[in-house]
Amino acid sequence: MLNSCLYSSLDKWKTYIELKQNDRAKKLLKSVIYRINKKIIKNKQIEETARNNALHECIILRGIIDFTDIDSIMRSTSVITDHDTLENLWILLWDCRERILVKNYIPESQILVNILKELDLIEAKFDENYGKGIYTSMVTKIKSEICSICKENIKLCDHKAGSFYNGIRCIGIVEDFELITSDIVENPEDKRCRIWPWRVKEVDGKKIIEQVIIHRIFKVDDF
Ligand SMILES: [Zn+2]
Repeated sequence: MLNSCLYSSLDKWKTYIELKQNDRAKKLLKSVIYRINKKIIKNKQIEETARNNALHECIILRGIIDFTDIDSIMRSTSVITDHDTLENLWILLWDCRERILVKNYIPESQILVNILKELDLIEAKFDENYGKGIYTSMVTKIKSEICSICKENIKLCDHKAGSFYNGIRCIGIVEDFELITSDIVENPEDKRCRIWPWRVKEVDGKKIIEQVIIHRIFKVDDF
C-alpha cells in the first residue's frame, strides 16, 4: 500500500502538465523524491515496510519524470523527424514503463493507468512507422555476480533480485564477465538496444551499423 504523498504529488503534477508547465512538473517530482529519500528511505529509524513502500513511490515518481520528458517531446512537434529525438523517445518509453511497473503491477491510480496507455499508443506509432524492429542482444558468460544487499555471491545468498530490503532494491552486480557474442534478434531482453534503419550504412558493399547500443546500464532508482 502506497502512501497518500504519491497520489497528492501526482495530482499536482497533472495540474502542471495540463498548464503545459513541464519544467515545473519535473521540479516538483524531483523535490518530492529528494524529501522521501532523505526522510524515509535513508532513515534507519523507520521500519522496513515503510522504507520499501517509499522506495517504490520514488521509483514511480522517477518514471513520471521520464514521462514528463516524453510529454515535452510529443508536444514540441506534431511529426518527429529528428533521429536523435526519436531514439531518445524510444529509450524514455522503456525507462518510464519499467519504473512504473517495477513491482509488476500498476498501483491504484488513474493517472498511472493513463500514462501506461499513452506509452502503448506511442509504441504503436513506432510500430506503424518503423515496424517491430531488430535489436542487439549480448550473450555473456558471467564469472562473478554479487548481491547489492549483502555483497555475497547472488546465487548463494537469501536475497532475491528485484525485491526491496530496508529501502534498497536488490540487484546482481556483475563484477566479471566474458562477452561471448552480440547477436541481432527480434525479441531482445532489452528493447532499448534497437538497431534503427538510419544507423545502417552501406560501405564497399558491406552493411555497417553505426552507433548501436549493445548494452545499456539502467538503474530504476537513480536518485
Ligand atoms: Zn544478498
